[in-house]
Amino acid sequence: MENVIIIGGGPSGLSAGIYLARAGLKPLIFAGSPPGGQLMLTSEVENFPGNESILGSELIQKMRDQALKFGAKIIDQNINKVNLNISEKQVESGGKIYTSKSLIIAVGAKALWLEVPGEKELRGKGVSACATCDGFFFREKVVAVVGGGDTAMEEALTLAKFAKKVYIIHRRDSFRASKIMQERVFTNPKIEVIWNSMVDGILGKDKVEEIKLKVKNQKSKIIIQNLKLDGVFVAIGHKPDTDIFKGQIEMDEKGYIITSSRIAMEYTKFKIQNLKFKMIIQNEKLEKIIKKFDFNYQTVTSIPGVFAGGDCVDFEYRQAGTASGMGIATALEVERYLENL
Ligand SMILES: Cc1cc2nc3c(=O)[nH]c(=O)nc-3n(C[C@H](O)[C@H](O)[C@H](O)COP(=O)(O)OP(=O)(O)OC[C@H]3O[C@@H](n4cnc5c(N)ncnc54)[C@H](O)[C@@H]3O)c2cc1C
Repeated sequence: MENVIIIGGGPSGLSAGIYLARAGLKPLIFAGSPPGGQLMLTSEVENFPGNESILGSELIQKMRDQALKFGAKIIDQNINKVNLNISEKQVESGGKIYTSKSLIIAVGAKALWLEVPGEKELRGKGVSACATCDGFFFREKVVAVVGGGDTAMEEALTLAKFAKKVYIIHRRDSFRASKIMQERVFTNPKIEVIWNSMVDGILGKDKVEEIKLKVKNQKSKIIIQNLKLDGVFVAIGHKPDTDIFKGQIEMDEKGYIITSSRIAMEYTKFKIQNLKFKMIIQNEKLEKIIKKFDFNYQTVTSIPGVFAGGDCVDFEYRQAGTASGMGIATALEVERYLENL
């Protein structure tokens, strides 16, 4: 029986691992296959405190080394199945069952990509899925954001602080983003919307140079147009990697795991302030599930002893630093949970 199993080997899971290893609890980390998480998809990371510039893969390696040094065990395999409906937590990997007194879920999320020619090859060379991470590299440049939801609006507004011109490319003739976000976009002089258009390819030798657009004109005829630019930010959504927990743990409509701090915030927003902005747990569901959460902890899920942090919980900030911080909070709460057992 393990003290604690951590599922996920990105910044969140590894940060939890460092703290729990230093506390002498010998955490067992399943880092996934391939391990390392989203930072392995990027090159330079310039905003992780304490590192002016570091390769994403190097940052992950340092975290792994630090966790191992203090006594964590890391297995680079996926967990295929979990059983959380019993007092001890069971997880299955490579045909073997592991049991634990507590569990940390840090499985992260995946950015959804356009899957068009050139996109994969030019990732990190002008193609990105994170304006907060990479916007700084596009000062006085021309960029495009692809998408029509709140995230796309936020990405465009963030980029407008750096770039000289920001196009938003959207396949329909209206956005599904909230009114307030749309207003901010429409009144920003640097942002121009290209409606009824789809990106059909991203072109460039060593970096993004232009995109190929399929534009539907007023007679509903498709015409192909090329647009010269320096960067493309894909903002069509993220998918948390939480399928293995379906039916066992409370999640929101998009599959993000709900923790006690999230539910407390949404409940307050809805019940006390009547705010609906960014609410993705329905009101009726809130009422039904709120009793399952132990508000002595912030990162606990609907199952006692199961904690969650990082991008599989956080649909808002999605940063290595915030994922690390949430991972640390899960570790501190697991320590307290184990002491209370
Ligand atoms: C292209 C790109 C560039 C970025 N650049 C920056 C940046 O410059 N600065 C910044 O702060 N942030 C950046 N980010 C965001 C940052 O990478 C994420 O916010 C952060 O990695 C989230 O950490 P996490 O640990 O929650 O999840 P992830 O990094 O997604 O890690 C999840 C881990 O869980 C594992 N896993 C998933 N399912 C299972 C399973 N069933 N069993 C076992 N393991 C599993 C995965 O293999 C992985 O190891 C970038 C993201 C992308 C996509």
